[in-house]
Amino acid sequence: MRRLLILGGGTAGTMMANKVAPVLDEQEWQITVVDCTEKHYYQPGFLFVPFGTYRLQDIVKPRHQYLPSGAKLIVSEIDRIDAEKNTVLLKDQSILKYDYLIIATGAEIHPEMTEGLKDEEWGKSKCDFYTPSGSERLGRILQNWQGGKLVVSITEMPIKCPVAPLEFLFLADSHFTARGIRDKVDLQLVTPLSGAFTKPKASQVLGDFLERKKISVTPDFGLARVDSKEKKLVGWDETEVGYDLLVSIPTHTGNACIERSGLGDELNFVPTNKETLQANGLPNVFVLGDATNLPSSKAGAVAHFQAEILMENFLAVVEGREMRARFDGHANCFIESGFGKGLLIDFNYETEPLPGEFPLPGIGPFTLLKESSINHYGKLMFRWVYWNVLLRGMELPIGSAMSMAGKRA
Ligand SMILES: Cc1cc2nc3c(=O)[nH]c(=O)nc-3n(C[C@H](O)[C@H](O)[C@H](O)COP(=O)(O)OP(=O)(O)OC[C@H]3O[C@@H](n4cnc5c(N)ncnc54)[C@H](O)[C@@H]3O)c2cc1C
Repeated sequence: MRRLLILGGGTAGTMMANKVAPVLDEQEWQITVVDCTEKHYYQPGFLFVPFGTYRLQDIVKPRHQYLPSGAKLIVSEIDRIDAEKNTVLLKDQSILKYDYLIIATGAEIHPEMTEGLKDEEWGKSKCDFYTPSGSERLGRILQNWQGGKLVVSITEMPIKCPVAPLEFLFLADSHFTARGIRDKVDLQLVTPLSGAFTKPKASQVLGDFLERKKISVTPDFGLARVDSKEKKLVGWDETEVGYDLLVSIPTHTGNACIERSGLGDELNFVPTNKETLQANGLPNVFVLGDATNLPSSKAGAVAHFQAEILMENFLAVVEGREMRARFDGHANCFIESGFGKGLLIDFNYETEPLPGEFPLPGIGPFTLLKESSINHYGKLMFRWVYWNVLLRGMELPIGSAMSMAGKRA
């Protein structure tokens, strides 16, 4: 038997298991997925939990239900990978051997990495919405909040779904307006970027949106520490921003098992070939999703496009052929803009998000970089698509390579 081991049964790992299982001969192949929990969360749903649109139970499913019957799920913590011996050590000391390895262990937040961020005020006047407990806690805080200065602070890049902090602010604007207390709430974004987003055209459009919605932006802010007593963020240059409620997007890193394996960069992301998705220097190891060090967005939609490329390249390597599929950095994301509307961005390594239309037979076109109700419905529909199409490894009517159709340069 040949052994394919997939580390992480989240968005990327589950999708990949579902793509390979029907193709690999089960008499010849053993597919194993390892994940430390049985709970699979639809993470884009964390954005909506603080506003009461979803409850946690609306966005979680048992992990094994989404894996193919031909794959074995081991629920255990991964301790480390020994890439020289082609083995993976689990926390319970069992050893798994592999012929091919796919690392899909994702990215996670680390508030404790910033001085003063994770202290006794964490979960009270400071909170995240990137974890199940954080988003639920923030929901409880917002329910009773009567106004003041709400600051969304991005500690450093990269983060998962780089538009989520903006979406949070847009939804907060909508939420406090509906509660009739918007005039008592000061909304602010504090970011290390020079604008609202990582790419100039989208940054301009989203920056205009923030301005129109009276959400102020403090750009180029390198967060050095948080002073909980004084309720202020302090930058490396000693500039200060005060808050009453801090919604933090803490530093993201790859999982600690990557560091223990000696396979990560300074943030524990795995150095990966940006086109083939092979781990640098390890021909039988591939990396998928948020675990990579690629300059593409850390997003489920990106993991989906990558999985199509990886499928081709994995089969090429197994069959001794040259890898020909190339990932172009394609990313596609709906952006909630509040009041039942949303925007859509579609871009890749080379092409920044452009205005125009995004054709989608039967449903679209969706408006690019422009608000519309259909984009909002697209975002809400994404939850169904996630569980029923994306995770199942099924084809979407959107190519893995970015298309210029409908875009205006
Ligand atoms: C608030 C928020 C909003 C988002 N919005 C969007 C959006 O609108 N659109 C979009 O496309 N994406 C969005 N994303 C991003 C998307 O959820 C992630 O990019 C996607 O889940 C990445 O998939 P992954 O498989 O790489 O990582 P994950 O899905 O995080 O999976 C990693 C898995 O590895 C397991 N694991 C890690 N380390 C170990 C270990 N040592 N032992 C055992 N198991 C381990 C974890 O338990 C986990 O199940 C959002 C994310 C957040 C947090």
